[in-house]
Amino acid sequence: MNDDRRRRLLALADRLGTPCFVYFLDEVRARIAAVRQAFGGAFAITYAIKANPAPALLRRLRGAVDGIDVSSGGELTRALAAGYPAAAIHFTGPGKRAGELAAAVAAGIGAVVLESREEAAVLASLARAAGVQQRVLVRIAPDRVPAGFGDTMSGKPVAFGIDEEDVPAFLADLRRWPELRLAGFHAYSGTQCLKPDAIAANWAIFARVFAAAAGAAGAAPEQLVLGAGMGVAYHDDQRPLDLGEVAVHAAPVLADLRARFPRAQLALETGRHLVGDAGVYLLRVLRTKDSRGVRIGIGDGGFRHHLAAAGMFGMVLKRNFRLANVSVADGPATGAFQLSGPLCTSLDMLGRAVPLPRLQQGDVIAIEASGAYGPTASPTAFLSHPPAGEWLVDGEQVVDART
Ligand SMILES: *Cc1c(COP(=O)(O)O)cnc(C)c1O
Repeated sequence: MNDDRRRRLLALADRLGTPCFVYFLDEVRARIAAVRQAFGGAFAITYAIKANPAPALLRRLRGAVDGIDVSSGGELTRALAAGYPAAAIHFTGPGKRAGELAAAVAAGIGAVVLESREEAAVLASLARAAGVQQRVLVRIAPDRVPAGFGDTMSGKPVAFGIDEEDVPAFLADLRRWPELRLAGFHAYSGTQCLKPDAIAANWAIFARVFAAAAGAAGAAPEQLVLGAGMGVAYHDDQRPLDLGEVAVHAAPVLADLRARFPRAQLALETGRHLVGDAGVYLLRVLRTKDSRGVRIGIGDGGFRHHLAAAGMFGMVLKRNFRLANVSVADGPATGAFQLSGPLCTSLDMLGRAVPLPRLQQGDVIAIEASGAYGPTASPTAFLSHPPAGEWLVDGEQVVDART
């Protein structure tokens, strides 16, 4: 880590207190702009807020993204409170409760993304009771996901969406509910991919299933939502995703989509890729000890705030996130340290055999790529420690991200 960034993070830790997450809004904005530009504006950009639903972040991203994807009634409430128009919000998720669907219908949500026949039946009766016609998209689960995705939600028995082979029958059923207006299709079948060719191959699969579905529906879709699957380089040995390369590989499929569906809005739905790199988790070393030849730092933060950095959020292997001791200038490693948290479980470990120039009491450790799937994806209640601070840096301003 360069010296300027190191000093900046140390100053933030001293000022804001640890443990805390710091999110840099400029970096999120820059990433959104980069995604837009990489595809020549071909895609609307929608943000899946489960990646980071901090209220201040959501408010300040208004205008930067074209839409919001929520996956619960709670997220719907957050998106509306942050000032997003209901029409710009989509609601996905395999197990939406009737109360959540009713709230979405009452709010005038832009689309409910249907994931099962039973859900369609419940939504239809709610729309009928409310006296409205609800705009819907059908989520399709393709029969395959290319290799290279860290987590897959298709190509096997899954809770998500309608299997592509069942789409024609599903669409025939849908016609029986005039309260539901089919506006298009949605697919999101894998994520955390850092391979440009695999991302493009996945979109080509989406294009194929969308074309088949549009044929079965007998109508041109207004909107096609492509779950982006674009990953974040969490570990030292990973290369950040090159958006230019994705664009090169995806050019044929984009041209195909444009030719087939000239009037449809194409939306890229993504979460971690927009916010993941823009956040850092800061913790302070409370105690150190030497145990059987290993020097261990016990920090004030740990997996209760950051399950992903402990290798327990969809990761196959527990590998360290990129981390640095920001209390000391970068230099040759003096050891391979272990970084543990304060909880009474050996799971509370954020670093194994970490090469650092130093590890001593009071040092501040920064864990990079921590802007997505942090506190809201972690067991924050475990052991009743206080929650992590969450701060949003917007230019010279630092505001509490949680309010
Ligand atoms: C979680 C989710 C996303 C975002 O996933 P990332 O890996 O953060 O990009 C997008 N769409 C749907 C439907 C999701 O459930």
